[in-house]
Amino acid sequence: MSSSCIFCKIARKEIDTAVIYEDELTIAFADIAPQAPTHILVIPKKHLEHIKDIKKDLSNALFSAINVVSQNMDGYRLVMNFGKDAGQAVPHLHFHVMSGRKMNWPPG
Ligand code: 5GP
Ligand code: ZN
Repeated sequence: MSSSCIFCKIARKEIDTAVIYEDELTIAFADIAPQAPTHILVIPKKHLEHIKDIKKDLSNALFSAINVVSQNMDGYRLVMNFGKDAGQAVPHLHFHVMSGRKMNWPPG
């Protein structure tokens, strides 16, 4: 957990954010600057920076959460940015679930 991390603050409910899904280990909420008509962030409640630090229980929980939030979508794009080259802005592991428009490939 990090006291200055914006996603930790959201996970701790210190910032007013509409929660889309939540369980013991994960929380999902709308991205503040959506890049698609629906743009949801799925994060571990615990502050983790690297995918290698995800234990099996958390990995199950994260993919279950992604499954729940995407269940009524016709299709979606799942994105995880890691590090400088990927343009990661928030250093708390998170998955973007984006839907509601035609996506391009390859991504920019
Ligand atoms: P990254 O580039 O790190 O993969 O993406 C970070 C995402 O977090 C961006 O899409 C950005 O719009 C979103 N974001 C940053 N700060 C906040 C915030 O305070 N609230 C919410 N809901 N989303 C945020
Ligand atoms: Zn954090």
